[in-house]
Amino acid sequence: MSALNDKVVAITGASSGIGEATALLLAERGARLVLGARREDRLAKLVARIEEAGGTAVHTQVDVTRREDLHSLVALARERFGRLDVLVGNAGVGPISPLDDLRVDEWDAMIDVNVKGVLHGIAAALPVFREQQSGHFVTTASTAAFRVLPSMAVYAASKVAVQALCEGLRQEAGPSLRVTTVYPGFVRTEFAEASSNGEVRRQIAGLRDEIAIPPDSIARAIAFALEQPDDVDVNEIVVRPTAQA
Ligand code: NDP
Repeated sequence: MSALNDKVVAITGASSGIGEATALLLAERGARLVLGARREDRLAKLVARIEEAGGTAVHTQVDVTRREDLHSLVALARERFGRLDVLVGNAGVGPISPLDDLRVDEWDAMIDVNVKGVLHGIAAALPVFREQQSGHFVTTASTAAFRVLPSMAVYAASKVAVQALCEGLRQEAGPSLRVTTVYPGFVRTEFAEASSNGEVRRQIAGLRDEIAIPPDSIARAIAFALEQPDDVDVNEIVVRPTAQA
């Protein structure tokens, strides 16, 4: 029996990429999933796929920029399964571009989704974890938190903020809550298509085709953290393609 058996895991950004791969892997290992993202049609298909394989999952539409949507996600977990064991704060956007482009709406989106979205998840799950005296926050940051590259200033800033939030959360969490931050390098997802600057998009897509690793690589790292005994807190995991500088 997997250590994940029957754990109730909510995942934001579950409709594609890393979130979707994580949902599939955790369901296969016996977790009960509560899936959130904006594209409900994709979530419904994912739930059907999990159920066909004998797993358990429910979904609800979540826009992480809306505080109340995170409360609904956590409430759905408690309604359907009586508890929430893990919140995977994974939703993120990366419409990267040089600062000179002044794509200020996209700067706002990166702050709203990547930073405030994570905060909204913490606000919704922390009181529940305190009440249960157990719970695990897993958050997807990025290796951009360690290395800022041209075109990535705002995105990297959002992930540095995630790193700081999660470290602060870890220090405040106390002996019964676990906090894991995952730092993926280049992963083959829809993420590479996000830039509205054509030249940047072409460069990123080229690099993706050359070196990116499948999203399942990150799902396995998340499963590793979840499967540890309760007194073992895996705090930070960095997973890069071997070929990434
Ligand atoms: P995808 O674009 O495939 O997935 C992003 C997910 O986030 C989608 O499910 C999307 O769902 C969701 N999302 C975006 N905006 C919102 C929102 N406002 N509310 C709720 N959900 C939202 O990319 P990845 O799987 O690669 O990205 C997942 C995480 O991994 C992100 O945090 C990203 O920053 C991080 N990351 C990715 C790397 C990569 O190379 N791919 C590298 C390092 C980190 P929907 O549109 O349906 O809402």
